[in-house]
Amino acid sequence: MNFNIALVKGDGIGPEIVDSAIRVLDRICEKYHHKAIYTDLPAGGNAIDIYGEPLPRSTVEAALKSDSVLLGAVGGPKWDTLPGMKRPERALLGLRKSLELYANIRPVRLFDALKERCPLRDAGAFDIVIVRELTGGIYFGKSGRLQGSNGIEAFDTEQYSYTEIERIGRVAFDYAMKRRKKVTSIDKANVLESSRLWREVMHELSAKYPEVEYCDMLVDNAAMQLVRNPMQFDVIVASNLFGDILSDEASQLTGSIGMLPSASLGKTRRGLYEPIHGSAPDIAGKGIANPIATILSVAMMLSYSFDLDKEAKKIEDAVTAVLNKGCFTGDIGGKLTDREMTDAILEKIG
Ligand code: NAD
Repeated sequence: MNFNIALVKGDGIGPEIVDSAIRVLDRICEKYHHKAIYTDLPAGGNAIDIYGEPLPRSTVEAALKSDSVLLGAVGGPKWDTLPGMKRPERALLGLRKSLELYANIRPVRLFDALKERCPLRDAGAFDIVIVRELTGGIYFGKSGRLQGSNGIEAFDTEQYSYTEIERIGRVAFDYAMKRRKKVTSIDKANVLESSRLWREVMHELSAKYPEVEYCDMLVDNAAMQLVRNPMQFDVIVASNLFGDILSDEASQLTGSIGMLPSASLGKTRRGLYEPIHGSAPDIAGKGIANPIATILSVAMMLSYSFDLDKEAKKIEDAVTAVLNKGCFTGDIGGKLTDREMTDAILEKIG
């Protein structure tokens, strides 16, 4: 199989970790007779330096022509004083919007080898997938300020259509069918009308997936249950706001932000795959970043965009084996450099 991959390496550690992930993808291609063709695209701070804007039109056009996008991270102190619309992070929102990616998938998994680094006392090796709605809800609803009788007021609006809820729900149920067949839907239906519609639609969907065990959970309870017993969850589906908060909470249970991949998906097979961490300017250029989140993002790309589950599993198994051998980068308590960690993973892939 041939794939055209758009590479948005970005800023800080972005280029280092994407280069490591490409070494892994190249090895997989060699082993399984595929061919990956890469196009480097500027976005983020590096694009601001060259083009004066975080997301040049040419980057969007090339991304739209690609089969999938692999992104490192954007941003850094150099561009921190720029106004909102000119900041590097706008590139991310712009890409997600242009590629119409409405579902953010974040696996949150505690590897056995990293149990010691989990802040919970008796955590088992939990394995959760958070499916977050990405293009609707309060982040995109009507907002503003007005002069009220008691002074200035501000408002944001949580609004969801049936269609938006249904399509994210389907992603979650389909996902659960490939896993342990359990969906927990997060809402605040005891207070919010938008959550009541959310719950109704999820119940309708649940009837269409009789094999999937389904439960509703209020968001405040979910925040508590995640730190009480993360083992109870398989697939969690949540609105943009609730998913944003819960996925950051959950990520902290895994030992390091350097371990977590993500996928943003839409109607087509083209996705955007990226680690959940940022550009880590404090360690950029030192060669010590943990490349695993980006390498696991490549595994997600192979599985979701190209249906290459065997190849994806090969990467995941290699990462697990390397961790079980006690090979760790600094963020997870070891001394390996980014390159040494990638070499160890390549060796396991064979
Ligand atoms: P960050 O995720 O970059 O770093 C937080 C901490 O985690 C740092 O100590 C960093 O060294 C460490 N870390 C992150 N990734 C690591 C890795 N792979 N290996 C080892 N250690 C790692 O978050 P931040 O410091 O809040 O943000 C830095 C910049 O990144 C900011 O400009 C921010 O806006 C941007 N950012 C970008 C994205 C993105 O591109 N998706 C996401 C978050 C933050």
